[in-house]
Amino acid sequence: EGSNLSGDAYRHQHEITVTGDEVPSPFSSFEATGFSSEILREVHSAGFSAPTPIQAQSWPIALQGRDIVAIAKTGSGKTLGYLIPGFMHLKQCRKDPRMGPTVLVLSPTRELATQILDEALKFGKSSRISCTCLYGGAPKGPQLREIERGVDIVVATPGRLNDILEMSTISLRQVSYLVLDEADRMLDMGFEPQIRKIVNEVPSCRQTLMYTATWPKEVRKIAADLLGNPVQVNIGNID
Ligand code: ADP
Ligand code: MG
Repeated sequence: EGSNLSGDAYRHQHEITVTGDEVPSPFSSFEATGFSSEILREVHSAGFSAPTPIQAQSWPIALQGRDIVAIAKTGSGKTLGYLIPGFMHLKQCRKDPRMGPTVLVLSPTRELATQILDEALKFGKSSRISCTCLYGGAPKGPQLREIERGVDIVVATPGRLNDILEMSTISLRQVSYLVLDEADRMLDMGFEPQIRKIVNEVPSCRQTLMYTATWPKEVRKIAADLLGNPVQVNIGNID
């Protein structure tokens, strides 16, 4: 039934509030997304029947190349919300991965970064997208070798990525799709200085997506500093 709803009716039914100019209608089905056949095959074989509300609303915005700040609770499907548009971004502007990643995802913890990597490996496999993970509490050597070998997507905790940047063993000059996942948690953990140093290495002509469960003034401030005229998507009555 969902697929026949108008954009406003879909948003109302799923408690989606959007703030921004000329917001596109949500994708109420996977078929509406225009994703590649490889990606559609992966979501179908995962047994998913429809996009989650955050995916439905943020995918068409992300595919337009626009910045997004999304406020949604955990378990709402945010990871694929940013990973699949990242895959589509790579399809259009993949660079030489040996010169550095094109897509960078910042995540607060090793555990979360590993989960994101697993999702990227699973859903990006048939699109032949390469990715790796950088986190603390593990030797740097193997992580540096992955970077040298060249990857399209890097998922990193701010602390370890900043350490590696200071060693000059990674370039972020090719990053054109930047994700700050669980931004509120990264700030709570005291990562703001590292995040700012990292983002300073990323060219300003980029697409930036920020995900957060809460919307306090610290998060609003970093969003205002790092994103350009973002569309704000709220799911549920947070805020
Ligand atoms: P969040 O980051 O918002 O906490 P996740 O991205 O980790 O949520 O997703 C939670 C779970 O939902 C994961 O197991 C993921 O594979 C699954 N999932 C993602 N998208 C869909 C979908 N469209 N339909 C069903 N399950 C989904
Ligand atoms: Mg998440």
